Amino acid sequence: MKKHNFSAGPCILPQEVMQKAAEAVVELDGIGLSLIEISHRSKEFVAIMEKARSLALELLGLEGKGYQALFLQGGASTQFLMTAYNLLDKKAGYVNTGTWSLKAIKEARLMGEIVEVASSQDQNFNYIPKGYNIPKDLDYLHLTSNNTIFGTQIKEFPKTDVPLVCDMSSDIFSRQMDFSKFDLIYAGAQKNMGPAGTTLVVVKEDILGKVSRKIPSMLDYAVHASKDSMFNTPPVFAVYVSMLTLQWLKDLGGIAAIEEINERKANLIYSEIELNPVFSGFAAKEDRSIMNATFNITDETLKEIFDEKCKEAGISGINGHRSVGGYRASMYNAMPLESVGILVDIMSDLEKRG
Ligand code: PLP
Repeated sequence: MKKHNFSAGPCILPQEVMQKAAEAVVELDGIGLSLIEISHRSKEFVAIMEKARSLALELLGLEGKGYQALFLQGGASTQFLMTAYNLLDKKAGYVNTGTWSLKAIKEARLMGEIVEVASSQDQNFNYIPKGYNIPKDLDYLHLTSNNTIFGTQIKEFPKTDVPLVCDMSSDIFSRQMDFSKFDLIYAGAQKNMGPAGTTLVVVKEDILGKVSRKIPSMLDYAVHASKDSMFNTPPVFAVYVSMLTLQWLKDLGGIAAIEEINERKANLIYSEIELNPVFSGFAAKEDRSIMNATFNITDETLKEIFDEKCKEAGISGINGHRSVGGYRASMYNAMPLESVGILVDIMSDLEKRG
């Protein structure tokens, strides 16, 4: 039986994408070679990379607006360093909304002065700071749009002239927004796009080339952009599967269509958490993530039954992260509404027992 995968990643993808990816590993589109044995310089793979890059820009509404989409390696964690290496000359601002922001701050500090412009650490990151002051002399302001561990999500981005850099690893392609507000967006593939192994970077061309330091080639966005993401051997499987998922999303109707489904999933689980006294939500209501719902069980005596019922129903991966505890239901783009319904039915049955 295929399980209902509520894991925070990696990775949940549409079944048809998994199927096509599996077939391509055996043989790519009838060419007599496997996807993972063809040259990355072959016309077949060059076309795959081009399609992945153009689909990413198209879905984000950034085509023809001076942006480059790059498929790089090293995960979002390398982007913590690479963003600073390429963009931080003197001083950058960071909004600290949890574990991943803290890691980004740690790496950026190696490169220059970092101002923590706001933080929600005082309440174990259960909310998104708002109304903070943004110094005008920052090289950029770094934000984390969705805090995977804590289940909070930025709903309104700050209005500022300072360039915005955003880690969208866990909510890219899940909701509509004006992506042209950002000068650089990065996201590890392994939540909404594809298998771990590639990281999407969408960068505005005119923000590059402004720092005084010398940048090693592998860490230089301009080098990757000038080589169409083929400066070195790209992770062909991860890029191919990402391309298939982006095509799936486009065929579905793009981000607008998936956002509607994501909203329905999130409403279903949050209404249950709100109405059911057996559960309590972790994140502040106005900042709750539509991707990762974090919650606790209020009556510990019911925990064993809840866990057992979830197991019986094939629900997998809902344990909370160790720094929050409780439960976390991650509902990425490919998670069907029915799976959330099954979890919610178990939650609701538990109230009747309590
Ligand atoms: N940023 C966010 C918001 C994440 O959720 C994660 C991983 O879950 C990362 C960064 C780190 O990504 P990676 O493991 O690709 O380095």
